[in-house]
Amino acid sequence: MSEGLNFNETLYPGVQVSYSCDQILYQEKTEHQDLVLFTNPVFGKVLMLDGITQVTTADEFIYHEMMSHVPILAHGAAKNVLIVGGGDCGLAEEVLKHKSVEKLVQVEIDASVVDFSREHFGDFNSGVLDDERFELVIADGMKFAAETERRFDVVIVDSTDPHGPGAVLFSEEFYRNVHRMLTPGGVLVTQNGVPFLQKQELVTSVERFSRIFADAAAYIAAIPTYFGGHMALGWASDNPELRNQAVSVLEERFKAAGIVTRYYTPDVHAAAFALPRFILDAVEEGRAKA
Ligand code: SAM
Repeated sequence: MSEGLNFNETLYPGVQVSYSCDQILYQEKTEHQDLVLFTNPVFGKVLMLDGITQVTTADEFIYHEMMSHVPILAHGAAKNVLIVGGGDCGLAEEVLKHKSVEKLVQVEIDASVVDFSREHFGDFNSGVLDDERFELVIADGMKFAAETERRFDVVIVDSTDPHGPGAVLFSEEFYRNVHRMLTPGGVLVTQNGVPFLQKQELVTSVERFSRIFADAAAYIAAIPTYFGGHMALGWASDNPELRNQAVSVLEERFKAAGIVTRYYTPDVHAAAFALPRFILDAVEEGRAKA
């Protein structure tokens, strides 16, 4: 028991999220970032990188289900999937639930995050690293995207925030390289912050998407770990129809996939693209700036 020890997240000026710490499970200053994993009575295991909460065992299912099942079921024929970031491997676990996915490549910059996640996050990533469809590449996602000749139907960017090693993953050059990596009509989905507190992050990403892709948008999910209301998940594709799939089509595909979920449903999928006014304003501002 770590009497009286708290970990405070200070991502937003004037706001501090404080977690009481029951026990520190792991702590390391890696080549790329400060990493700490501790237990909290409410959120369970909490991973922080550079003082910012990345994932907790209590609600990881919300984020990982919405980052995986939405693009894969909207696409309908995704065989090759790329994850950029995602070191805790919770997202990979959800993607690999789709038997139709033949190959999942994950490009993660920090091997330490994957190593300790293998040991400490079996709660939600069991079997991923032993799945023959899974290929882990330890590299900077920016460099991989610029150099690879491989092609993907769905690219999911599960990155840290736009500073430190994650900053390049919000750049126009990176999005252009993702567009090059996507098969025709493929989909890009990005972790894009909490619009109520990080509005400019969404505006800038949609602006950059709009200069590169035919369809630039966002969808939302409410994830208690990411303080501040809805989290925005960026969406970009050259096939505008994918974002407007009928619920009946999604139900058919979800049923055929035979996946059990705790947050995702076809109705939640469709509803997630119905944005509250202030978030829609941010998306429209981004499109208008392009
Ligand atoms: N869901 C979390 C969030 O929304 O903040 C992110 C979780 S995941 C742990 C973020 C991962 O992105 C980390 O493992 C980090 O090492 C990785 N990452 C950061 N910059 C990267 C880069 N340039 N290339 C590849 N991976 C990167």
